[in-house]
Amino acid sequence: MKRLVGISNRTAAGGPKAGGLAVALWDALVQRKGLWFGWSGEVVDKDRVRRGVELFDEEGVEFALTDLTEAEHEGYYLGYANRSLWPVLHYRVDLANFDEDEYACYREVNRRFAKLIYSRLDEDDLVWVHDYHLFPLPQDLRDLGWRGRTGFFLHIPFPPPEIFKSIPDHRALTQGLCACDVIGFQTVSDRDNFVKYCVSELGAKQNGAEEISVNNRSITIKAYPIGIDAEEFKRLAEEEEGRQAASRIEPFLGERRALILGVDRMDYSKGIPNRFQAVGKLLDNEPGLHGRIAYTQIAPPSRTKVEEYKELRGELDTLAGRINGDYGDLDWIPIRYLARSYPREQLAGLYRLARVALVTPLHDGMNLVAKEFAAAQDPEDPGVLILSQFAGAAEQLKHGALIVNPHDISAMADAMREALNMALPERKKRYEALARMVFGQDIAWWREAFMADLDPNGEPAEVVSLH
Ligand code: ADP
Repeated sequence: MKRLVGISNRTAAGGPKAGGLAVALWDALVQRKGLWFGWSGEVVDKDRVRRGVELFDEEGVEFALTDLTEAEHEGYYLGYANRSLWPVLHYRVDLANFDEDEYACYREVNRRFAKLIYSRLDEDDLVWVHDYHLFPLPQDLRDLGWRGRTGFFLHIPFPPPEIFKSIPDHRALTQGLCACDVIGFQTVSDRDNFVKYCVSELGAKQNGAEEISVNNRSITIKAYPIGIDAEEFKRLAEEEEGRQAASRIEPFLGERRALILGVDRMDYSKGIPNRFQAVGKLLDNEPGLHGRIAYTQIAPPSRTKVEEYKELRGELDTLAGRINGDYGDLDWIPIRYLARSYPREQLAGLYRLARVALVTPLHDGMNLVAKEFAAAQDPEDPGVLILSQFAGAAEQLKHGALIVNPHDISAMADAMREALNMALPERKKRYEALARMVFGQDIAWWREAFMADLDPNGEPAEVVSLH
């Protein structure tokens, strides 16, 4: 079996091998005794930076990590990746900030990473690069002489060409990516956007639905919707720690209150303000629900150094305060908004207790919370998933979830009412449709689907989760 070299901005070194990318890549690397290259998470000042890598082993997986200087962290990570690419790829050109120096820094960091990796590659290795931080890296490796099989997976959306083209250096980014043999997207619609872009901007030829040729290279371009370790989530949801978390919230629910749950990183792409407004609308429309629902939003702050994220925090504080002030009562607070994170064991228990999950991002590559919620349900008495049409997960979960437009506040309020009133047979039918996808196309399925295309002559691995 060929060795796999995984490359991603952050790795799972030293931490829990939990969450989509970490689980998937970790399992693949354990199977193939692989190497995982990435940023150590450390930011050091320029004089002290280790320009090389720190090497160590965890359970047979070799890690090669490098620090970022303060300037690199600011320009490459916070700057270009998260203030230019993240907003545009989430359809928010209005929030994007394009800065030539930040782009130069992003290019420089990608080249530096490529050099550090290239010196460790053997010609038979398979290279798998992850996400928008590293668009140019495949070409940077080729420029150094790398000829081996190379794949890339984009974890976030790829917008229509008209939006992507607002990035001043869009051509350089996609040319870098097109040095790959396989490029994977979360959804068919992301894949189609990318193909359309390559045809119109790079003069690519389409050879069938899942292959293009560009610059004399044939590239497999496919959707591989990322999954979760669904069995593990189901198990967690039934365990003591999850039950205890549920029992901590139960006094606020009593016999007659239904838990409506939202769980998201605090990010403007998640549409949390719209959700708060929808809860306000529901309470406006349905006085009978006053005191009968408890909406809990768990939203740990992220990227707090980026201005737009600070503004979002202020907006949520104001909205939650206003709605609670308008509708709350001596014995009832409609919105419980917790700006912190919880261990996945506890989240699993909360998912299982919830009657309704509100997963309504304005745009999201996949959205793993939707899948975690589905996996955690009691099949005999499942809750209802309300899912944005703009979450990547909607392509797979459209038959089980109530699909909503997150910009349509009234429609979201109606969907909540429908979910709260849904009879058991309908809930079960919908759960079965969700479970088919979430358990059938889980994280092991995703990993093997990608690896089969990256290594077409390799022996197919057994599709088992290593947990
Ligand atoms: P994103 O990758 O944009 O953050 P996803 O929904 O795809 O969104 O993945 C988020 C992951 O982070 C999920 O595995 C989820 O369980 C976890 N997560 C989200 N919010 C919290 C929280 N408040 N506490 C702990 N974990 C969280």
